[in-house]
Amino acid sequence: MALKILEDCIACDACMQPCPTGAISAADPIYIIDPNICNECVGYADSPTCVDACPVECIVLDEAHRYSYEENLKRYQKED
Ligand code: SF4
Ligand code: SF4
Repeated sequence: MALKILEDCIACDACMQPCPTGAISAADPIYIIDPNICNECVGYADSPTCVDACPVECIVLDEAHRYSYEENLKRYQKED
C-alpha cells in the first residue's frame, strides 16, 4: 500500500528528505505522495520514514493503492 498525506499537513518539509524513493513533493497547499512511487519504505526501513518525521501525524495508509510486501520490495529494488 502507498501512503497519502491528509489536509492537516502544515507544509513543514520534514518528510521529503527522509523519503528513500522521492515519492513526496511539495504542492499547494499541502504536500503530496505519488502512490505509483511510494512503497511504504519496504526494504529501506522498518516503518515509513515520512510518518516518523511528520510532526502533525497527517500521513496515513492509502487504501486506494494497495501493494503486497513482495510488490513493494520489488518496487524499491527497481529504484536502485
Ligand atoms: S512511506 Fe516511505 S516511500 Fe512512501 S512516501 Fe513515506 S517515506 Fe516515501
Ligand atoms: S512532515 Fe507532515 S506536515 Fe510536514 S510536509 Fe510532510 S506531511 Fe506535511
